Amino acid sequence: MFDRSVYLLGGLSRHALCFMPCIVMNIQSAGTTIRPMHRLKEAIMPLPIGHTAIGLAAAETIQGEPSSGSRIEQFIFITVLANLPDIDTLIGLFLQGNGDVYHRGPTHSLLFALAAGYAASHAWRLWHRIPRFGFQFCSLLIFSHVAADMLLTASPVSLIWPLESNPGTGHSGWLDVMNMVLFDSFQDIGIVFVVIAYLLLLRIVRSGRTRQRLFAVVKKWGK
Ligand SMILES: [Zn+2]
Repeated sequence: MFDRSVYLLGGLSRHALCFMPCIVMNIQSAGTTIRPMHRLKEAIMPLPIGHTAIGLAAAETIQGEPSSGSRIEQFIFITVLANLPDIDTLIGLFLQGNGDVYHRGPTHSLLFALAAGYAASHAWRLWHRIPRFGFQFCSLLIFSHVAADMLLTASPVSLIWPLESNPGTGHSGWLDVMNMVLFDSFQDIGIVFVVIAYLLLLRIVRSGRTRQRLFAVVKKWGK
């Protein structure tokens, strides 16, 4: 899965490079009253590409090998789980015509990550093409989205819902949401590069461990 992840992320980053001038313009046009940290968080707000990249990094770290599914099916499954909490935007658009009304509410919580993770780990029973991953893997993947929103953006999530709830207070119609997903995704380029660097580092560390283990086995046999 590692090579596939780096290959896919490489493609995403090449695509995102086309938008580099827009990033500079976006940061320059940000209000002067916004604090530097707040501005940085707004500039790296993860959208679907960023959440997918973070999800792939989480999947690679956890190494939850499925017992079924092709690589593309696994990639689609990971992408869906890594972006699942943002389903609240679609629900808001369909029910109220406002993507903000439920956004960052219950689906951006620990409880949702556990419940949806459990459901996702059993989804293979419904259709044979859905890869079979464990409960822990699925929950951590969904929680990677909540953690990324919590750590990388200025708006709060509802981590311990139902004890706290922080849904959006603004208004985003269909056009606003589509515009953000299609044209603001360049903001995720920084996340994609960091994830590629992390995956390469992970590979080096793991290959080093493998070499050490092999060396220990050969040494044992040599005695
Ligand atoms: Zn989100």
